[in-house]
Amino acid sequence: MITPRRTRLVRVPHLHAFRRAISVLSGDPTFDTAHSRLVVVPTRGAARQLRRTLEKEFQKDSPGTGGARAIARPDCVTRDELYDCLHARLTCPPRRLTAFERDAVAQASARSALSASTGQLPFQLRPGLVAQILRFYDQLRRQSQQVKRFEELIEEALSGAAAPSDRGAERMGQQTRFLTRTFLEYERRVLECGACDEHVLRDRLMEESAGDPIRHVIVTVPDWIADPDGLFVADFDLLARIPGLAALDIVSTEALLGSGFHERLHNWWPGIDEVDGHDIEIGRVDLGVAVPRARPVLVTPPAGAPDQPWFTHRDREEELVAIARRIKADRRRAAETPALDRTAVVFKRPLPYLYLASETFGAAGIPYQTYDALPLAGEPTAAAIDLILDLVETSFARAAIVALLRSPHFRFVQDEDEVARKAISALDRALSGARYLGDLGRLEELGATWTSRDAVPALEAALAAGRELAPLLEAAPAAQQIRLVLAFFASYARPLDFDDPFAPRERRARAAVVQLLTDLAAGHAAHHDPLWTIDEVGAAARRWIEEETFAPESSGTGVHLLDDQAARYGDFDDITLVGLVENDWPERPRRNIFCPPSLLKTIGWPSEKDRRGAADARFLDLLASASQRVVVSTFALDDEALVARSAELDQIPRARLSTVAREAHENEAARIFMDEALAYEPPALGALGATARRWAEMRIGRSPSEARDFHGSVGAQPSRTWSVSALETYLGCPFKFFAQHVLRLEEEPDEEEVMDPRRQGQLVHEVFEAFFRSWQAAGRRAVTQENLDEARAMFAGVVDRALEGLPEAEAGLERTRLLGSAAAAGLGEAVFRMEAERPVAVVERLIEHRLEGEFAIAAASGTRVVFLRGKADRLDLLEDGTFRLIDYKLGRPPSRARALQLPIYSVCAEQRLVNYAGRQWTLGQAAYLAFKGPRRVVPLFSSPSDRAKVLGEAQRRLADTLDAIEGGEFPPTPDDVYRCETCGFASVCRKDYVGDV
Ligand code: SF4
Repeated sequence: MITPRRTRLVRVPHLHAFRRAISVLSGDPTFDTAHSRLVVVPTRGAARQLRRTLEKEFQKDSPGTGGARAIARPDCVTRDELYDCLHARLTCPPRRLTAFERDAVAQASARSALSASTGQLPFQLRPGLVAQILRFYDQLRRQSQQVKRFEELIEEALSGAAAPSDRGAERMGQQTRFLTRTFLEYERRVLECGACDEHVLRDRLMEESAGDPIRHVIVTVPDWIADPDGLFVADFDLLARIPGLAALDIVSTEALLGSGFHERLHNWWPGIDEVDGHDIEIGRVDLGVAVPRARPVLVTPPAGAPDQPWFTHRDREEELVAIARRIKADRRRAAETPALDRTAVVFKRPLPYLYLASETFGAAGIPYQTYDALPLAGEPTAAAIDLILDLVETSFARAAIVALLRSPHFRFVQDEDEVARKAISALDRALSGARYLGDLGRLEELGATWTSRDAVPALEAALAAGRELAPLLEAAPAAQQIRLVLAFFASYARPLDFDDPFAPRERRARAAVVQLLTDLAAGHAAHHDPLWTIDEVGAAARRWIEEETFAPESSGTGVHLLDDQAARYGDFDDITLVGLVENDWPERPRRNIFCPPSLLKTIGWPSEKDRRGAADARFLDLLASASQRVVVSTFALDDEALVARSAELDQIPRARLSTVAREAHENEAARIFMDEALAYEPPALGALGATARRWAEMRIGRSPSEARDFHGSVGAQPSRTWSVSALETYLGCPFKFFAQHVLRLEEEPDEEEVMDPRRQGQLVHEVFEAFFRSWQAAGRRAVTQENLDEARAMFAGVVDRALEGLPEAEAGLERTRLLGSAAAAGLGEAVFRMEAERPVAVVERLIEHRLEGEFAIAAASGTRVVFLRGKADRLDLLEDGTFRLIDYKLGRPPSRARALQLPIYSVCAEQRLVNYAGRQWTLGQAAYLAFKGPRRVVPLFSSPSDRAKVLGEAQRRLADTLDAIEGGEFPPTPDDVYRCETCGFASVCRKDYVGDV
């Protein structure tokens, strides 16, 4: 039965009248107090904006009352909040299920339906999919469809359309039966638990009178077909039937009504009263909503730009930059411009505009206020939870341990002292050195035999954290696992500093994350507590955190940055619509993954035509919403990918706005951003805050950036003995040499889990050294065709011993590299073949032979004495009085133009071998044994004349390098910029010079 009440449609011509009509209706004195009136809006942002507008309207209507009427302002509620309010009015309201509880009930229902299914479902049942099933159920019920009716309709549609052997239809039928079983089981479980969801609540609200009912509802949103945040058929039905409601006003613009909403309203309420917004009668007094239509002027690009009524920018950031420039330019011209508080930037999707706002408006010193919530996942606290999950997911890998211990969100204490960063770095190095690749058991083993004292506090902290979190590796009830994560966070979260300006936001974000995880655990404990390991815990925690939003506190003054929903409720002089690109305007509807559009139509889903018509209408409304001017802009690149402009732009002429071309003003190019203030000469520091200004003054007071000391010049250095490999590093990059050998900084351990090139190189050198020592000790000299097998066998033994103690996977890789596989020969084979194919008897081998002290080299200025040290990989003294110098290179050999070690060792060896074993030795051959590249054996020179040239050039290069080092020249100039990608000193290097020099 429809209860007697006033139900009417208030038609308004435009958004000016829309806002005015809501204001007039909100002040209707017919109903006792504002306490019994609700205004339904699409979003929280819209509610905030409407409250602000109502405040002004009330003060306009009642000047001099000191805002007396403002006390009577109604509650502005979203659809969900409407249910909350109605629920709260029930005399004995049932407990409402939280979203987490509903999800848990849905998961239990889907599992139960799955076990009763006979055929194979076309999908795997994952928690994310169950969330979609629940969403589909909600939409069905909101469309006033019963579950059984849904099944009948789909089965009917399938049987009418499909051939008997249609396997697609069969699968769809199976899926529909599964969904029906899930929905029915869900409904049974909800009733059984005695609490209610939205659908059970709706039935109860229609049956039971509230003690203190809502008397007047003003609906300012259309249905969900015209607006994704609108009401559903079931909501309109509830408002038609709920006891105690005396008046229901639906306010809508003509444009929206014309898009199909009017027809649908009349289908639900045949003969609904309609009033023109200009003739609203309240009580017996016609207050009227006479609103002079203030039509804005559309500002178009300046003459000479493409003939379009909108602006096109490079990307979203440039759109905001252009607005900031325009605002600043207008103010500098002292033109009559709207106040910042009367200016709005309107987008469809808040991100990334809200993030960009601080870099554009903030940097330009333009105050702004925001209304939209940001993703909770973007708050630092969410990253802290991720670190805990990561630690267990990676099985306590080194990188995850170090990230957790270093995180500013946590505080780890050992022996009453906080674990210092130095200890964490020491642990990082020690674990890297121990080839620790994860696994708590291995970490415990390492702890028992630990030698690095510096790292002990960090190791103890890592072990304590690991022991606490280890239960997450084993399957256990979901609620218990989530609570374990929460308990860990509670124990180790760093206390917030009250003086920290970021603390209030961080405190709120922590509270939001903790509440979310607490509710998730409670939902599972109460309704469905399956066994979860870290994989399920991680997936569930991240899914819920990603779906949650977080409203940062806004300053409340300045330019409004708001979405198109909220903008409909705001009274502005100047509006810029931004981000007019395909997929945003109009917004893409969320695809239903269970049914194709043809089947959805059968159960009442809207057509694309209805949706599109309403989107166009809302866009046209918005175009004319400002009082003075409107600007529209689009952009071409989104994340460096080309995007198409929105088709809504073609609707602009339909708004019939008068246009004015924007004049380009000189002062629009004036610097307005901090970076411009600092980058252009002379720097302007006036706009900087006190701290930033102090820094800027200090930087400006320093020597100029062209000064040599900014480019790696540190002044004369004392001569010292350098290793030749260090000098070769200088040739690769002087600054790297400086960091490593002058400052003696330690390289960051490699993040790679597998053995890094430096360690591989060490291992290869150790293996060949051990082999040739054993070979020589066994009385063997040259490796020949005859003793090749013996050499191979001995080498295999040496390799096996060297790989003992390495993790199994890593040992396997290195064994293949050294001994080879069925597919390719190993490094040992390459070395032996090189020797066996050049049969000269070996007198003696000098392995890892040290060359140190004073050497004479031929510099450009003549012979010069230098002090060097180095170690030749292998020096074979041959029977013919020559020697062969071998350098193992795990990668490719260096180019001859840059090589230093092999030619300089050649020169030094000749000097040191004078009279060795009573003989003279001359360099016969110098070669790289390169394990990468097209050739294994790469000779340093090919003929005696070539030999003189190569050795001569290398000596001159050595002399120049020593001069540059003694002159203190260490610019960051790598011989190849790709070197920077693997450089262990990248974090201390101003490599921004690279490419400029
Ligand atoms: S990052 Fe590049 S420029 Fe800097 S030290 Fe390393 S190699 Fe040289």
